[in-house]
Parts: sequence; C-alpha cells; structure tokens
Amino acid sequence: MNKLLIAGPCSAESREQVLQAARAVKELGADIFRAGVWKPRTHPGCFEGTGAPALDWLAQVRETLGLEVTTEVASAQHVRLCLEKGIRTLWIGARTTTNPFMVQEIADALKGSGAKVLVKNPVNPDVDLWMGAVERLASNGINDIILVHRGFSQGLAGRYRNDPKWHLLLQVRERMPQLPLICDPSHIAGDSELVPEIAQRAMDLGLDGLMIECHPDPSAALSDASQQLSPARLKELLDSLVTRVQDSSDAAYRDRLEMLRSQIDSLDADIIDNLARRMEISRQIGALKRENGISIVQPVRWGRVMQDALQRAAASGLEEELVNNIFSLIHEASVRQQ
Ligand code: PEP
Ligand code: MN
Repeated sequence: MNKLLIAGPCSAESREQVLQAARAVKELGADIFRAGVWKPRTHPGCFEGTGAPALDWLAQVRETLGLEVTTEVASAQHVRLCLEKGIRTLWIGARTTTNPFMVQEIADALKGSGAKVLVKNPVNPDVDLWMGAVERLASNGINDIILVHRGFSQGLAGRYRNDPKWHLLLQVRERMPQLPLICDPSHIAGDSELVPEIAQRAMDLGLDGLMIECHPDPSAALSDASQQLSPARLKELLDSLVTRVQDSSDAAYRDRLEMLRSQIDSLDADIIDNLARRMEISRQIGALKRENGISIVQPVRWGRVMQDALQRAAASGLEEELVNNIFSLIHEASVRQQ
C-alpha cells in the first residue's frame, strides 16, 4: 500500500501474542504496529489491558523488529510510562478526545517530548472538539499529529458499530489541510466482514492511510474480537484495495467529488431517518386521536404545517413546487399511517 498503514491487535495480551502480531503485520508492510496497553471499556470487569508490563513487549517489538510502535494514552501517567520506555508514538482514544481536561493533561505531559500523536475523533460528531485537541497539543509544541477517523457513536444501531459520517471529513480537511488524516475502519465497522468496504471508501475519499486491528487469532481476542482481522484476511484486504494513482489535479477533483457525494449520501440517509421518525410520531398521534374520539384529518393544523414549510423553503431558496409536492406526499402517507 502506498499509504500509511498502522496495524496490530486491539490489545496487547501477552508477549507472544504481541510479537506474533508484530511479525505478521511487518510482513504485510505495516509502517507502525499498534496494540492497546490500557483499554477503555464500556463495562467494568471486561479485560482492561495488561497495563505497564505490556510496554516492555512493545519496546521489544521496536528493538527486535525495527518497527515503530504505538499505544493509547489517556493520562499524564500513561504518557510518562510510555516515554520512559522510549515509546514516542502515542494515540489519544475517542473517549479521551471528548474530554478537554484529559487532553490538556496529556498535552502538558508531552511537552518537549517530540512525540508523534494520533488523535482519534471524539465519540460525538463534533469537529471543533477534535480540532481543539489538536490545538492543545500544538500549543505544547507537539506538531507531529495524525488525525484518525474512527466514526461516531450513534443512538440507533446502524450498519456499522460507529457512524462514519464521511461528510464531516470535508470540514476536517478544510480546517486542518496540513494534517494527515487516516481511517480506522475496524472501529467504524465493529465487524471484520465490513472492514474492507470501509477501508476502500477511505481510499476513495483520498485519506492518507489506515489503522486496522489485526490479531493472530481474532476469535480468541480479549477485546474487540468481532472486528479484528487475522493476518491472512488483512493481506486479502490490502491486496484488494484500490488506491488511485492519477495526475494530481484529477485526483483533487475526484477527492472533492467523493467528499461532496458522501455529503449527499449522508443527507439522504438523514432524510430517510427523519421520515421514519415522523411517521412513527404520526402513528402515535393517530392512536391519541383514536383514544379521544377525534377525527384524523384536521385541515387547520395541516394548513399551518404547510405554510411554515413553504416559508422556510422560501427563506432557504428552495422551489415552492418542490416543497409543496414533497409535503403533500408526506401528508398523504401520514394520514394513511393514522
Ligand atoms: C482502539 O483503538 O482500540 C480503541 C479503543 O479505539 P477508539 O478510541 O477509537 O474506540
Ligand atoms: Mn479496539
């Protein structure tokens, strides 16, 4: 792959597992080996990582295989322990990026270290919060930063564990054009079957690389078992990945087009989701009217809804006919639901 590749298991589980995984991903051309030493888990009692002793295993990977290594830090103490072991490529996880206090603490601990920091997007789709984390690092002299897109928590379960919201990346690119932006398809997917399509999408959008979870024996993994790829499957993914090689002006045009199209796709998905929610509320209104013996169609209310919609449409420069047609269809469907 002619892009940055970071690969390795979700967690460092044992010296053997770490070394086995590191050898495998090095063989596949990974630039950096990843493994979580401290794991942020939703529920207590899950495997929370091996902690500081695992740093020695990572240091061993760096020394014996000559492979750069990275792990997640969530506190000043984590940073100090990593730096003591000579681990200078660190990542800030999604749950941490969400919290400016924690990011500041990490940024302060990193001052003067010359570390490289991968900043994952916050769990919520807030580009400012993501950028704020970068600014906190930069004001402490940390400028070797890579942004990692790992998707956003979503209320309703969708196709993926985390909603990629690709359109937000356009904003990120516009606001921080100098920073490499890579994708973590594993944490977006939540399912190893879906990792390749997301990785390909990231390449189509012109992102600068991938961070992929790869475990020697995914089914036995102590965390994120369902989304990790075996080395053989990672190889398949890498072999099938199409990265565009075109002249630069054309590539820029295509990247922009893909970004715009992904905005359209995401807006279309929002329209459908909103329609579904609207129909659900319509059904609830229908039930309420039924219980109270009220007729379904209430022309005064509908007149007001339509008038508001048309006013809003006019203010946004939308064609009256378009909005009129769409709302008439919605009203008909809504009446049918009730
Ligand atoms: C991870 O990379 O294993 C991890 C916990 O990621 P995130 O912070 O993106 O959930
Ligand atoms: Mn993980």
